[in-house]
Amino acid sequence: MIHRQIDVALGERSYPIYVGSGMTASLAPTCRQHGIPDRVVVLTDKNVAPLYLAPLLKNLRHFEFDVTSFSLPPGERQKSLQWASKVFTWMLEAGVGRKSAVIALGGGVIGDLAGFVAATYQRGVPLIQVPTTLLAQVDSSIGGKVAVNHPLGKNMIGAFHQPKFVWSDMECLRTLPAREIVSGLGEVIKYGVILDAGLFDDLETNLDRVLALEVDAVLRVQTRCAELKADLTSRDEKESGMRIVLNYGHTVGHALEAAGNYRVLNHGEAVLLGMIAESSIALALGMISQDVHDRIVGLIRRVPLRFRANTLDLTKVIKLMSHDKKSIGGKKRFVLPTRVGDVQVTEGVERSLIRSSLLSTFKLYTSG
Ligand code: ADP
Ligand code: ZN
Repeated sequence: MIHRQIDVALGERSYPIYVGSGMTASLAPTCRQHGIPDRVVVLTDKNVAPLYLAPLLKNLRHFEFDVTSFSLPPGERQKSLQWASKVFTWMLEAGVGRKSAVIALGGGVIGDLAGFVAATYQRGVPLIQVPTTLLAQVDSSIGGKVAVNHPLGKNMIGAFHQPKFVWSDMECLRTLPAREIVSGLGEVIKYGVILDAGLFDDLETNLDRVLALEVDAVLRVQTRCAELKADLTSRDEKESGMRIVLNYGHTVGHALEAAGNYRVLNHGEAVLLGMIAESSIALALGMISQDVHDRIVGLIRRVPLRFRANTLDLTKVIKLMSHDKKSIGGKKRFVLPTRVGDVQVTEGVERSLIRSSLLSTFKLYTSG
């Protein structure tokens, strides 16, 4: 059932995000309603395919779509030009023409890769995002950013290609490894800190219910996150200004991910730790009170993140932060909280302060 529809307002490129639980049967009719062409390509990965591909194909075929599907190996390594090229070959060999659409069925990796394919295949075909991870549902499937990685940097080759609609079914989360729920919660808590004290309060009260995947708790949080991301996207489609607030936790987070070669920590886990470190920077700079700091760190600490500080080299983390692509003219830019629900962009944070905040963050994860 569709619980809520949230609209991303972008003039003629406007589109809805459908949030709900157990919605597979109405996917094809929704495609019809949005004028999706008959010829459809579903891209997914080999973990997601056995779980969700068959019912989706059945539903589309029942409504007379001509569907072909391709499953890629799972994982970030597939977000490459090589794999995009392989998909192009499959599509060309299958005779997929310009009047076709791509459905991205999977997590953020598939969303980004399939989105990149849709943005470029024969100069662009319609895209439908069917996110199956919490992270993709609350964040990466919304906003139109699509990309593949380059050996010299993540997401370096890409485009803005808004989907025709986003189809976010929380029932998919039941098969998700616990670690992926934790990762998604990184972005969820971030929305609370940067934009919405109400969401933050809700998480303080109901985090355990969200972790237990209780339907109403999850849907409420997902809906709120989708609304916030939709609103930011409407106001700053090409990320020229205010979408920067989404970078809270990410200046440190990106460096943490990279320092562990993307194996020690996945994206959302790194963001959780990044938010702790950046909150302690904000505290040291007098931007937030001890109280606010403790609330933010307290909520993050309740997320069952498995991390041992001795698995990452702190010096490497700091070194990597000088290469963050979001730093302008070599200056590190931080998005730091000023209270729960508001942030401010700050430049010129001393290296020593970055170091001490990382140290105190790591200290929280040393025992055990
Ligand atoms: P993210 O969405 O966090 O960016 P991925 O796209 O890499 O990350 O997805 C994380 C992992 O979870 C991948 O191994 C993917 O195959 C798997 N996965 C995605 N959705 C589901 C699901 N609903 N159930 C089980 N596994 C899933
Ligand atoms: Zn992120």
